[in-house]
Amino acid sequence: STTKKIALVTGGNKGLGLETSRQLAAQGITVLLGARDLAKGEAAAAPLKAEGLDVRAVKIDVDDRADHAAIAAFIEKEYGVLDILINNAGIMVDGEIFTNTTLKVTEENLHKTFDTNFFAVVALTQTLLPLIRKSEAGRIVNLSSILGSLTLHATEGSPIYEAKGFAYDTSKTALNSYSIHLAHALKDTKIKVNSAHPGWVKTDMGTDAAPMNVEDGSKTSVWLATLPEDGPTGGFFHMQDTLPW
Ligand code: NDP
Repeated sequence: STTKKIALVTGGNKGLGLETSRQLAAQGITVLLGARDLAKGEAAAAPLKAEGLDVRAVKIDVDDRADHAAIAAFIEKEYGVLDILINNAGIMVDGEIFTNTTLKVTEENLHKTFDTNFFAVVALTQTLLPLIRKSEAGRIVNLSSILGSLTLHATEGSPIYEAKGFAYDTSKTALNSYSIHLAHALKDTKIKVNSAHPGWVKTDMGTDAAPMNVEDGSKTSVWLATLPEDGPTGGFFHMQDTLPW
């Protein structure tokens, strides 16, 4: 069919979400650029629209279940289908260092981090699944991190061996588990579900010390969002390479 695909990118107002929105729209996809602050979303979408890209800012705070219901109703009414969901919004709470001398893991950090990086993703995905089921080629991409890999945490000599974050890392491990379970549950459908590690990328979260730019950092998400019918599901990828869980 010649109908344009519809994508929703959460946390689309800056960083990887913004660049992912730009790259998807450049492929002719209609992008709903999600932002918890609609003004920031509109400001971010404006230059993309000026380039002729089909990008529309939408208000979604992933921590707010009323926003989940509202975005589902909006997409249902406007498009009747959702082809691509990129669960990109995420947080890393500062100052969390887990060593013998500084055991700074607080329940507050754990809850806050899991609320946004895990519970919100599960809830939003479930709310949008009826719309994704209507797609000819539903694609769900969960922005994880190599820091969520238990195998690499336990592998001496790996780049993340003995990494000291805890709330963030475990939230991404949980997210990876959701990707696998959901992929298996949907294996007899056209929907593909994968986790992405974008790389260590220069954004507000990644900091200027990161080696990758957002253009390259967005490639994994864009690839997984546009996988062909014979592409993978239930995987954890960086670029097109598999990462260990
Ligand atoms: P940024 O901090 O640059 O951007 C995060 C985005 O998420 C912002 O748009 C932010 O909105 C949004 N966000 C945060 N909380 C919420 C919320 N409750 N509701 C809606 N939006 C929210 O991060 P990156 O672009 O670097 O990261 C994007 C994803 O990639 C994250 O999931 C991150 O964990 C992951 N990742 C990033 C890496 C990196 O090196 N940069 C490495 C590995 C994974 P606002 O502007 O309002 O704060």
